Amino acid sequence: MSIDILALDGDGIGPEIMQSTLDIVDFLNKELKLDIQIRKEVIGFKSIDQNSTTMTSEVVLASKEADGIILGPVDHNNYPSVVDGGINPSGKLRIELDLYANIRPARNYINLNSLSKDMDLIIVRENTEGFYSDRNMFDGPGEFSPVPGVGLAIRKITKHASLRIAEIAFKIAKTKCASKNKKPKIHAIHKANVMRLTDGIFLEACRTVASKNKEVEYEEMLVDACAAHIIRNPSQFDVIVTTNMFGDILSDLATEFSGSLGLAGSLNAGEHNAMAQAQHGAATDIAGKNIANPISLILSTGMLLNWIGEKRNLKKLNTASSFIDKAVIKTLSENNNLTRDLGGNASTKELTKNFLNILNNIIL
Ligand code: ATP
Repeated sequence: MSIDILALDGDGIGPEIMQSTLDIVDFLNKELKLDIQIRKEVIGFKSIDQNSTTMTSEVVLASKEADGIILGPVDHNNYPSVVDGGINPSGKLRIELDLYANIRPARNYINLNSLSKDMDLIIVRENTEGFYSDRNMFDGPGEFSPVPGVGLAIRKITKHASLRIAEIAFKIAKTKCASKNKKPKIHAIHKANVMRLTDGIFLEACRTVASKNKEVEYEEMLVDACAAHIIRNPSQFDVIVTTNMFGDILSDLATEFSGSLGLAGSLNAGEHNAMAQAQHGAATDIAGKNIANPISLILSTGMLLNWIGEKRNLKKLNTASSFIDKAVIKTLSENNNLTRDLGGNASTKELTKNFLNILNNIIL
């Protein structure tokens, strides 16, 4: 049975980095006979023009039915209001498909001029609640103004969501360290000294899961201290598990520290669906110039192939994913044909062409 992947370009640099990503998928599909079928649908500003909404219900349905989704970056900050059709496709899909785990690796690469020298960590971020006022309520937004000049934001933390994100983080830590022959380590990141109730629930859930996984070393750390420690000594972290907004901020810090936001792959995963999505935004300042770095979306798609491979027990997809990882490492270590964000002067298309050559040599 074929693997159906839905590709949604998004806004800004979305179409350019999606094209590079689909070139890679296409190549692997032919070489490894993966039997992947790509279907494209329109979202974002292009969809507003065609359908008066940034995301139609048909696209939501197609996303639910697909084996996986590749979502380009969306410029939702500049969308019209929801009543005028400005739905945030990223938030909508995370909720509709219950993609509760946002998995964000950050590592440094040899020869790349990154600030960090010894980082290889994964941030596992809860994706459905926390401070995200556009999605943390059953009905209506979690942010409101009772009187003019006063704004209130609600941060929702539940035992259910905390337990399931902790479970997946421990699983990821065990898989990550299995090949390295070392004891895996988890850091639960919180601010329970201030938010005693909500982060108390989160930590309690992490401790419950830790008590069932004694082979994993478990530590807790305040979020402000964690930011400092990522800079000072990133090698101490294997896997970080945290709530929604802390995870969002810490992962941008970690990936920029590793070299560029353009290297930041990420996967949104649930029980039944998964969605590859670069960590960065639509980068409208460089859109249409053929200078965007596509590696973040390529890495994210590699993570998606790996997820589908595990779910459907299709080893070929896991192999394809590991080839992508190898090609990223080689591309970055060769230190030529890199885009501007990485200190080079190659175009998006030149980087992609070089990446395909490297992939070809790896497969041979
Ligand atoms: P959002 O709030 O949606 O994350 P943002 O405006 O905060 O969006 P980005 O769109 O991620 O941030 O852009 C931040 C900076 O990083 C911009 O200068 C952008 O050009 C750069 N950038 C982001 N992604 C890439 C990429 N793939 N390649 C090159 N530069 C990028």
